[in-house]
Parts: sequence; structure tokens; C-alpha cells
Amino acid sequence: TKQIRLKERPVGMPTYETFDWTNNEVSEPSEGEVLLKSIYISVDPYMRGRMNDQKSYVEPYRVGEVISGGVIAEVVKSNSAEYVPGDLVIGNLGWQTYQIANEDHLRKIDPKQAPISTHLGVIGMPGMTAYFGLLDIGKPESGETVVVSGAAGAVGTVVGQIAKIAGARVVGIAGTDEKIKYLKEELHFDEVINYKSDQYFEALREACPKGVDVYYDNVGGEVSDAVLRLINKGARIPICGQISLYNLEKPDYGMRVQPNLLVNSALMKGFIVSDYGAHFEEAIKDLSNWLQEGKLKYKETIVEGFENIPEAFIGLFKGENIGKYIVKVADP
Ligand code: NDP
Repeated sequence: TKQIRLKERPVGMPTYETFDWTNNEVSEPSEGEVLLKSIYISVDPYMRGRMNDQKSYVEPYRVGEVISGGVIAEVVKSNSAEYVPGDLVIGNLGWQTYQIANEDHLRKIDPKQAPISTHLGVIGMPGMTAYFGLLDIGKPESGETVVVSGAAGAVGTVVGQIAKIAGARVVGIAGTDEKIKYLKEELHFDEVINYKSDQYFEALREACPKGVDVYYDNVGGEVSDAVLRLINKGARIPICGQISLYNLEKPDYGMRVQPNLLVNSALMKGFIVSDYGAHFEEAIKDLSNWLQEGKLKYKETIVEGFENIPEAFIGLFKGENIGKYIVKVADP
């Protein structure tokens, strides 16, 4: 099996030097284990945090360890009563082409329910992150203005569409014209602003004539500082991610806007999708239903080839993806 390991902890933006490649034999599955062939490997921004030597809500990767994350795989050999060869599963697995896994760490997925890659995106972890952060913390009401940053990504695309389902006016923030066109024309966002334009703040202010009731924050930094200047009384601000800060060499605590939160009695609350572990099934049910009814659309950026995983991962921080970024490493 081919494997990708953490070679050294990146300082700033990860590079090819961050990764190491190894090739090893895989053993036979023991009792309760299966041999898996990886089909789709997910690259996610949170993995950058795990490359640092600091404890967060997930343990850091150890140097030399195979990098792990969401993977969709096919059972090739089974020594488990629960799985037969050909079954498709999802789990927190290694960046490797083949691997042994314990049956307790896998969940079966049904290729008839939805395309299997969607379990890494729209009906998977990012979709649920959008669902809980928006509905439980943001609580959008009909007619309110919801602003979402990182709007064209895996989480942001779902946030904007659920906000539309809730009857809100949706303003997205993204970094390329292609993304803006997609969000407006295909996902029917009301307005989309390019945060890289010189008139970013002015454009945002014009796009939110009634101010901002919910700000779903995926990026932090200056992009967010601008939105937080526009909040209304009683605004709610789910803090989902801070991707603009993940590769900074020196910490920047952004957020020079707390006084504005105070005078507006605004609620700003951080969360981790796993806080809602007890409610995952409801979320998957709602997201799957919306998908089937055509109320929720999705796009994926899929690159092929195991050797392209590091490049795709780094691409997240350059904005290469629209929707969920996934690497396809084999056919099912
Ligand atoms: P995305 O699919 O949104 O991919 C990342 C996108 O972020 C890029 O395409 C890029 O788009 C944008 N981006 C990259 N660098 C910057 C920057 N410096 N400033 C502004 N935008 C930038 O990733 P996900 O949807 O998977 O994740 C979105 C956010 O949600 C992340 O911050 C992630 O950490 C967080 N998250 C949090 C979870 C939780 O439990 N709290 C769970 C899952 C994700 P563009 O071209 O627009 O710049």
C-alpha cells in the first residue's frame, strides 16, 4: 500500500516538504477486521490544525504518522461478520491506498441512496457542520439577512442553501468570479461579494442594506472584521472556522470588533460539529431529503490520483475548490 505521512510540522503554508511517501505490505485482516481499498479521500482545512504541535479538539498528528481523515473505501477482504467484499464504507482512515480497519470504526454507506462521494460533503461532516451551526446557533428567521464567508466551499454552499430554505436573504463572500457566478446563478444566493476586491467593505455594506442578522464565519480575519461592523441588534454569529488564520506564522487575533458585539447584544458562539453527535441522524435525514427534493444542490471538486492528495490539501488554502474538495484514488 502507498502511504502519505507527516514528515515535518509546517510553519506557515504546508509544502511538499511537509509530506513523506512510503510503500508497505498490508497484512491480512484479523478477527473483526477488514481489508479496505480507498476510493475517495477527503482533504479538509481542520487537518492543517492537526499538523501543529498543539492540543485542540482533535489530537495533533504525530511526526512520521500516516495522515488520517475522512475516507470512503471498498471492502476487499473481510474477517468480520458485518461486512462482505464489495461493501462501501466510510471512516476516519489513513491516506493510503489499502489498509486494515476494525469493523467498529466503519459505517456502511448505500450507493443507491446518494452518490457515495456526498458522504464526505453535502450529507457528510461538512453538511452537518453547516446544518447545526446555522440552525442551532444562527437560527435564521424568514426575511433576515444571513451572511456566510467561505461561501463557495463545502460548508458555505450548504449554509447558504439552508438559509434560503429558512426564508432568509443570503449574502455570500468568496474569492473568485467563477465562485460568485456559481453561487448566484446555480444556488440562487441573493448577493455574493468578492473579498479580494478593493471595494470589499463598501460592496458588502450595499449588499446588506438592512444590516446583518446572522453571520456564519468560516474564515475569520479581516473578512470577518468587516462583516461584524454591520451586525444588527440581536445578531447571532456561529464561529465555524478561521481558515484565513491557519497558515499565519504569527498569531493574529483579528476581531477588533467586540465592542460592536456588546452594544448590539449579539451572540457569537464557537462550535465543533461533534458537539452535536447525538443528533447526526436527524441532520443526515434532513440533508438527504433536501438533496432528493432538489432543494439542496452540491458541487464537488474531484482530482484523481493518490499522489495528488498533498496538492489538493494545499489547494484548499489557495481557494482551488468549489464545493467539497475530494481526491479520487480508485474506482469502486
Ligand atoms: P472549503 O471547502 O470552504 O475550502 C476552503 C476555502 O476557504 C477555499 O476554497 C477558499 O475559498 C477559502 N479560503 C482559503 N484561504 C482563505 C483566506 N485566507 N481567506 C478567506 N477565505 C479563504 O472548506 P470547508 O467547507 O471544509 O471548511 C470551511 C471552514 O469551516 C473552515 O474554516 C473549516 O476549518 C471549518 N470547519 C469547521 C468545523 C467545525 O466543526 N467547527 C467542521 C468543518 C469545517 P475562496 O476562493 O473563497 O478564498
